[in-house]
Amino acid sequence: MIAIVGGGIAGASALHVLARAGFEVELYDDGDAVSGGASGVPVALLNPYRGKRALPSAEDLAGHERFLAEVAELGSERAGWHAVGVLRLADSAERAAAWRELPLVRWIASEELSAVAALELRASHGGFLFERGGFVDTRALREALIAAARSRGAVIHAGVRVHSIEPENDGVRLHTTMGDRRARIAVSCTGAVSAPWAPRDDLRAVAGEVLCYARAPLGPAHIAAVREPVLVARCLMIRTPQEIHVGGAHGGDRAEAQDAAALLHAAGSALWPALATLAPTSSFRATRAATPSNQPRVRRVAERLWSVEGLAGRGYLRAFDLAAQLAMELRRELG
Ligand SMILES: Cc1cc2nc3c(=O)[nH]c(=O)nc-3n(C[C@H](O)[C@H](O)[C@H](O)COP(=O)(O)OP(=O)(O)OC[C@H]3O[C@@H](n4cnc5c(N)ncnc54)[C@H](O)[C@@H]3O)c2cc1C
Repeated sequence: MIAIVGGGIAGASALHVLARAGFEVELYDDGDAVSGGASGVPVALLNPYRGKRALPSAEDLAGHERFLAEVAELGSERAGWHAVGVLRLADSAERAAAWRELPLVRWIASEELSAVAALELRASHGGFLFERGGFVDTRALREALIAAARSRGAVIHAGVRVHSIEPENDGVRLHTTMGDRRARIAVSCTGAVSAPWAPRDDLRAVAGEVLCYARAPLGPAHIAAVREPVLVARCLMIRTPQEIHVGGAHGGDRAEAQDAAALLHAAGSALWPALATLAPTSSFRATRAATPSNQPRVRRVAERLWSVEGLAGRGYLRAFDLAAQLAMELRRELG
């Protein structure tokens, strides 16, 4: 049996992929296993065109393609996938000139942006549209993953905390709030929460926040839009049928965290002035962990002990690829 500790997107993807590969798997999560950790962000963006240069890495492109294949297998609607496209807005003429050369995206001139976005935007440098991008309803996706794994015999222990893990004979012993459990291999997927059995001194925590606004005041003109891409500028703006989400990262410092909501609201309003008239109805704040290279990793911590870690801002983009890599490594370890 493989024990997975943590039911965020890393743990839920590992559970699904390992169960499908024929492994006997159990998942332990100290929450309800579908809404905790950084993965509980209400909606997540799927966009490999990240960073200032927006040049996608081979890993992010592959991660995105694997995500699309996996949600297609689960049933895109059931898995909460919305293929609405991602629109990134340039904040300077220099950036616009560089982005115009990007492969596999469509350049949109500034005068066409508002029509493509179906919002009256203030963005004078144009932007690009990545049509294969979009957003996912994270709760729907994790529920679909857990249901698929359960149908293959996976066992979920929600509300169970793992205190420690130690090697034992031909496996490991997990000390948990439901007593001791044995497994052949343990996989740590605890996100930004430190796990004493898998020290990760080189990881840093990055705090992030999302403000949610009820969508109703937008009016029928906007609802009539055929396509509504996710917007990314200094902040990211995601529209679900019911809500608008404005998200961004901050340093995690206390003063900055206090100001984060006001800063996000101001950044969103600078881009789309109508937002200034709305007040957020709820917010989400969480911390994710990043490796020094910002690349998520699958790591063998010790014999029979693995860790999937440092998913940073790419958790949904990369989790399926990491799970596939983990399956390969475990097959090798178990011979
Ligand atoms: C505000 C914000 C917006 C984001 N937006 C996006 C986005 O648009 N697109 C994208 O791809 N990514 C996004 N991310 C990043 C993404 O959410 C993370 O990379 C990802 O969720 C990390 O997943 P994880 O499974 O590694 O960790 P987590 O989601 O933190 O899950 C860890 C789980 O382990 C459990 N746990 C911890 N310790 C124990 C223990 N000892 N015993 C039992 N259970 C334990 C926790 O309760 C939790 O459920 C965003 C993150 C934030 C904070």
